[in-house]
Amino acid sequence: MTVARPDEVRRFNRSSLLRLLHVGGPATRAALAAELGLNRSTIKMLVDALAESGLVEERVPRLARGAGRPSLLVLPQPEAAVVLAVDVQAEHVGMAMIGFGGQILGRNSWNLHGRQREPEEVVTHVAESAALLAADLSLRPSAAGISVPGVVRRTDGHVHTAPNLGWTEVAFGERMQAVLGLPVVIGNDAELGALAEYVRGVCRGAADTLFVSADIGVGGGLIVQGASLRGSAGYLGEIGHMTVRPGGRACYCGNEGCWETEVGEAALCRALGLPEHSPRGTIVAELRALQRDPEPPGLTEYLDWLVLGLVNAVNILGPERVVLGDLFTALPDDMVARVEDRIRGRSMVSRALGGVRVEKSTLGTDLKLLGAAEAAFEDVLAGA
Ligand SMILES: [Zn+2]
Repeated sequence: MTVARPDEVRRFNRSSLLRLLHVGGPATRAALAAELGLNRSTIKMLVDALAESGLVEERVPRLARGAGRPSLLVLPQPEAAVVLAVDVQAEHVGMAMIGFGGQILGRNSWNLHGRQREPEEVVTHVAESAALLAADLSLRPSAAGISVPGVVRRTDGHVHTAPNLGWTEVAFGERMQAVLGLPVVIGNDAELGALAEYVRGVCRGAADTLFVSADIGVGGGLIVQGASLRGSAGYLGEIGHMTVRPGGRACYCGNEGCWETEVGEAALCRALGLPEHSPRGTIVAELRALQRDPEPPGLTEYLDWLVLGLVNAVNILGPERVVLGDLFTALPDDMVARVEDRIRGRSMVSRALGGVRVEKSTLGTDLKLLGAAEAAFEDVLAGA
């Protein structure tokens, strides 16, 4: 039998406490002790050490009532542990400094055109902007998390392909780490979207969650028992490229009839009778107008493909929740409710689980920045 050494126990308790404050926000010492199953003297010792290193402050709660000393309120100090979050998209890069507790402390963004999309240009621009932002805010990030829309090896941030950026076999993680001089985590955008939803979004605390998002392509990320699921060598599976229509449209991936070709942005444009590659604003406006108009037949077929893919995913994975991101969030609420009902009707796994809930992401355009920050915070909080 292995017995944990006292310093290991202390380190474990310290990182559990940091995680709790980071995700749940300010809490009293008594509540933290109860949540972690620790006694009063242990929690006092841990909180005192965090206060000494500046990670938390303690205050008497304003609403303290009754006899005896009130339990002190422990507040995370956002600037005491900061990470750099970067969201690289096909036409845009977003960047933020995010503090302990999840607060965005400052941000910057720029558009990508032509040559600016080349990997080395992106690396240089991210490094320069990060330095400016850090100087503006007088903050020093201790790690960076970067979201990339592509097939990414999480272990070292190698990008096998990012079709919408035109990248193939790019040692992006290695390059970013070299120019930033920080530990860097590179993640697939849907994987980081799932993480953001689990830590800060509508499925907060739902330990088994499937996140599916439609942008130009379709991607998915899975949280299993509270951790991101990855495939071998750190590559994530590509749910958008499961075959749903044998003999269907050719996909850039080399296959045909991929789910992405039936429910991605181009498919949604076709369903709405819009030209493919219509501006995002036009697609969203058209979907909003649907609530008043009768449903076009193209959209009925679109929803059939959406349901088919989700039924397959629910049957294989058995998630507690399904969260729809990006373009899917523009679907009218009653349509999402119908999708949920139809999954229940066709999936015995959904019925066994009491009906898997399907919800729209509420984190908006910050979703991937928040996910990238959480990926970076995983190691920061474990070692703080
Ligand atoms: Zn494909």
